[in-house]
This record gives sequence, C-alpha cells and structure tokens, in this order.
Amino acid sequence: MRAALVLMYHQIVPEGASPGWVPAPLADPRYGVGQKDFVRQMAHLREEGYTILSLDSLLAPGAGDEAAASGRPAVAVTFDDGYETDWRLAAPVLSKFGIPATFFVATGHIGAPGMLTESMVAELSARPIFRIGSHGESHRFLSELSEEECEDELRRSLEKVRALTGQKEAEISAPGGRTSPRVADLARKTGYRAQATSRPGLFLPGGDPFSIPRLPVMSRHSLSDFSALLDPRSPATRRDWWVRSAKQAARAVLGTLPFGKGG
Ligand SMILES: [Zn+2]
Repeated sequence: MRAALVLMYHQIVPEGASPGWVPAPLADPRYGVGQKDFVRQMAHLREEGYTILSLDSLLAPGAGDEAAASGRPAVAVTFDDGYETDWRLAAPVLSKFGIPATFFVATGHIGAPGMLTESMVAELSARPIFRIGSHGESHRFLSELSEEECEDELRRSLEKVRALTGQKEAEISAPGGRTSPRVADLARKTGYRAQATSRPGLFLPGGDPFSIPRLPVMSRHSLSDFSALLDPRSPATRRDWWVRSAKQAARAVLGTLPFGKGG
C-alpha cells in the first residue's frame, strides 16, 4: 500500500435548498456539500480510476496495493455526525457508483429531527458497501471531558453501534476532531478498532490506526478544488493542509473559542 486519502463529508445539501441550509442544529453550513456537487465528485473518482477502499479495509495488510501500482493514493469516503441526508441523498449516489463509505454517527442524536433514525442506521449497515462507526454519543468534544465522562461516551456509543448494526467491531471519529493521545488510548481500551481524525494528511502504510488523517470536503470546493484535494502534490492542497494543521495546533493551545464547529 502506498498511501490513502480519507475524505470527510458531513451533510449533503438538497437541490434548491436556501443558502446556509442545515439538516439539524449540529450542522455547520460550511461543511454542507450540494447534492449535484456530490454526484460530480463521486463520478470524478470513478472516471479518474481512483482505487476506492472502505476506511476499515485500509487497516488490512496489503490494502491499496493496486493504488500503489497506479502511483496515486487510494481514496476512502467517510461521513460525520449521522444526518438523515446520509441515507436520503448520499447512499443512493454511493450505491450507484459502487463506492464504499463509513458513516460515523453521533449515537445520542439518532432519531432527532434531521438526523438518521434507528431504522436508517440499520438499513445502511445492511448494505455490504456501507459501515457504521461511532462519532461519540452526545457529540461533546472528547478531549475536553474527564476520563470518566470520556469512557462513558465511548462505551455507550460503541454499545449502540453494535446493537443497531450487529457489527462486532467499529471505528470512531472524534466529534469536532477534538482528540488527544489520552482519548485514543481510551478508545482502544473501550474496544474501538481505529480512530479517524480531522488532521489533514495522507494515511501511510503501517500508520497509527488511531490517528488516521482526513480531508474535509466543504461547500466552497469546486470540482477543480476537489480534484486538487486528491493530489497531495498540488500547491493548493499543501497550503490547505498547512493552514488546517496550524489551526488545529492553535486550537490545542487556545481551546475552542476562535473556531467553528468543524467536524
Ligand atoms: Zn461532528
């Protein structure tokens, strides 16, 4: 395996929705991707012949060997939060293109307006190309909780994912991307298999499964921005990664005040 780029989506914005539309209060409008844009992006991945793997399969030895032969990173698609648009707008497009995806669900929000219902979660997980992961229970930022509260969030969410899907194993993505070595350690002890972060970059072979970098796809991305995002050598991507890494470092120091919800 050479390397993989893991894409991070949130809500898909329906055609004709007003600017700034969000499916639920949890959502940040900057992370909404238009329905037509999403179709174009998935078509682009197929047309350009990217090797598209599920996030969990990246953890298997030898994953992405074909991608290595092509000289380009493999691509994996993930969704955070668990909006009903995962089921209503994203899943049909992913199915049409045969693109696997992991849906990280904030399990305490299941059934709330604009969020996935229990039956939608079960329906998604029944499709072989889809997998359900945890995005915490309440969407509180795990790195800001006491050890006891963090363990409780991790355990309750994993139990719910297991109960709704029948999956024995699950991956997690930390709400707001706010994680730490302590959170990663607690997640491992709780029984999670891997952790996807909001740290930009490539997932390299043999990399730490509890520190999988991801790239956010945002409302401002045109198709050419999306295409550049997939090319780690493009100046735009390098600039974007650098800015995001700097913001994350600042967040770790300053706390959450100056920045949006992000992830
Ligand atoms: Zn989130």
